[in-house]
Amino acid sequence: MRIDVLTLFPEMFHGVFGASILGKAKEKGIVSLNAVNFRDYANNKHNTVDDYPYGGGGGMVLKPEPLFAAVEDLMPEGGERPRVILLCPQGEPYTQKKAEELSASRHLVFVCGHYEGYDERIRQHLVTDEISLGDYVLTGGELPAMVMIDSIVRLLPGVLGNETSAVTDSFSTGLLEHPHYTRPAVFRDWAVPEVLMSGHHANVEVWRRQQSILRTLERRPELLNAAELTKKERQWLDEQIRIREQNKEADD
Ligand code: SAM
Repeated sequence: MRIDVLTLFPEMFHGVFGASILGKAKEKGIVSLNAVNFRDYANNKHNTVDDYPYGGGGGMVLKPEPLFAAVEDLMPEGGERPRVILLCPQGEPYTQKKAEELSASRHLVFVCGHYEGYDERIRQHLVTDEISLGDYVLTGGELPAMVMIDSIVRLLPGVLGNETSAVTDSFSTGLLEHPHYTRPAVFRDWAVPEVLMSGHHANVEVWRRQQSILRTLERRPELLNAAELTKKERQWLDEQIRIREQNKEADD
């Protein structure tokens, strides 16, 4: 996979692209990661990439020319068009499902905004996706781009040591992941659940799956509507909900 990031602050990416799992994925040649300063594409005397908004008002707006020129320069001639992703608080909320979808692409270009916003023609005619990291406003698209790139690259085959670890992660299964424990077996009187030390793999799997369902029920119940549960698991879940309601009534 090839990932290009168009930013005014390429130095922000140096640490992230060189360290940990992203750094290793790059070293192994699984992904190429490039931060490109789109100021280099400003075709004017002072290398200006922003200008005052038409109609007045505060803040500066990113001009279309440098970003169009940069994206066009990054496109291989006659090759497949990349997905061009605009980081934007007004975009589609980012999810694990979107990360999975994007991880199947060969070439991604991230466009990091700054200042008040971008010329609307960038949205309309240059980008293929507009993504928001959440309902809050950051100073620039660099941190969201880093978050997205991390979540996408770790899904590429050969990046994580244990291929199954991404498959069982929260959201990949439609549920939150089960709890984890490691040694010691007892820490400050808090013991590890016995089933995990039983060596009985089938029972461990059942316990993990049930914990995963319960955790989702407690923290993100809305995910359960779309989660793929067997008939038996649905019945078990209904029973858990019933028990909880009874306990709540008893407490009241
Ligand atoms: N005036 C814009 C608005 O109200 O929608 C906000 C601009 S923000 C200060 C500057 C840049 O940061 C945006 O163009 C975008 O690239 C990035 N950004 C800010 N918040 C973001 C978020 N929640 N998700 C993704 N990108 C974000």
